Amino acid sequence: MTGRWIRPFAAMLTLVVGLFGCLAANADVRDIRVWQSPESTRLVLDLTEATEHKIFPLTSPNRVVIDLANAKMLANPDNVELADTAVSGLRTGHPDKHTLRIVLDLNETLKVSSFPLAPNDVYKDYRLVVDLKRPDTAQSVSPVKQAVTEISKARDIIIAIDAGHGGEDPGASGPKRTKEKNVVLAIAKQLEQRLKQEPGYTPFMVRTGDYYIGLRERTEKARAANADFLVSIHADAFKHPSAHGSSVYVLSDRGATSETARWLADNENNADLIGGISLDDKDDHLRMTLLDLSMTYQRNSSKRIGGDILKYLGKISYLHKRQVEEAAFVVLKAPDMPALLVETGFISNPEEERKLNTVAYQKQMAGSIFDGIKDYFTDHPPGGTLIEARRSTPAPALWRSYVIRSGDTLSEIAVRNGIGISELRRFNDLDDDQIRIGQTIKIPNS
Ligand SMILES: [Zn+2]
Repeated sequence: MTGRWIRPFAAMLTLVVGLFGCLAANADVRDIRVWQSPESTRLVLDLTEATEHKIFPLTSPNRVVIDLANAKMLANPDNVELADTAVSGLRTGHPDKHTLRIVLDLNETLKVSSFPLAPNDVYKDYRLVVDLKRPDTAQSVSPVKQAVTEISKARDIIIAIDAGHGGEDPGASGPKRTKEKNVVLAIAKQLEQRLKQEPGYTPFMVRTGDYYIGLRERTEKARAANADFLVSIHADAFKHPSAHGSSVYVLSDRGATSETARWLADNENNADLIGGISLDDKDDHLRMTLLDLSMTYQRNSSKRIGGDILKYLGKISYLHKRQVEEAAFVVLKAPDMPALLVETGFISNPEEERKLNTVAYQKQMAGSIFDGIKDYFTDHPPGGTLIEARRSTPAPALWRSYVIRSGDTLSEIAVRNGIGISELRRFNDLDDDQIRIGQTIKIPNS
């Protein structure tokens, strides 16, 4: 009796499940983007619906297989930009009628991980993020040139430059669709150039292209490069287009000091969610302990550098905040390194969006940050650096006098003595290349 009832019930259940299977909305793949960083590759699929997925690697040859339930491919695989990425090919197929299979051909064996993301303000679609990493790249950091000079065998001051956002995380955007990630990278590159020209300094770029890096990973990279200072470059956005001006933030350990700062802190910290990287907090306890030990010293240093930068920013731009602000930005949580976040203007303000897009303004902005950094480190050079050696070595040992003769030019004198013209200018406190006959200048001994 019971048996006679179970069978039709089971049949009915199968039918119901089958119906649901048919009724379930398709998780169509609308677009695929690939972001390549020096260490890893991130593949992002835009989906019309959330769906189950399976992902597994295959070897000989190296491949990664992504199976999506109830999915169809709307994007054209041929249009996915794979040049200069770790993925050499992308194919699709249907192992059964409810499954979309995407096969990635790889040039080498890579570790694969994945996670789904829900829609947000920036991305209206569901997303599936697939990360491909070399098995041994966790600690790899490009080596930083440690310039050693004959004068003192002293090292350079290393300035880590962090261009905010990148890749899948565009940051704020302007009324003309300027993306924060692009303008801040341009400013960061200008600052890198400026620092490269300055004796005693070596820049380290945390992000070099259009890809995302986790916030904690950014400070880790700066620390691994032995940076003496980290500056994170951003551009603001606000719901009112009238908001404008630049501002400088240091980490607050008691939370944000104003409503705006708090709003901003949340916004910037959410980048880890927007960018879609999983937060790895397992050594947070160690970080917190270190943080308590040296945070006070680092915060005071950061505030001083921030004050110096504001002084120069005030000459080229309106200051949104005249004081160094404090906020709980994760990227500033570097216990052993002073760190600042510079908001270079409001990209949501039409006039500032226009300016931020010009090379001239990007250079001015980078120049102000550079001048502030230099002012601070000239007065407070870290131990063992060339800048410190220059301060503490008696002046006569460092230079000799030269009297300008007819026909001399500053650039020719620089070449003749084997030094850079900017170094010669700086050494003599000259604002430009103007010299006059009979003038005595100092030539650094090398
Ligand atoms: Zn930002």
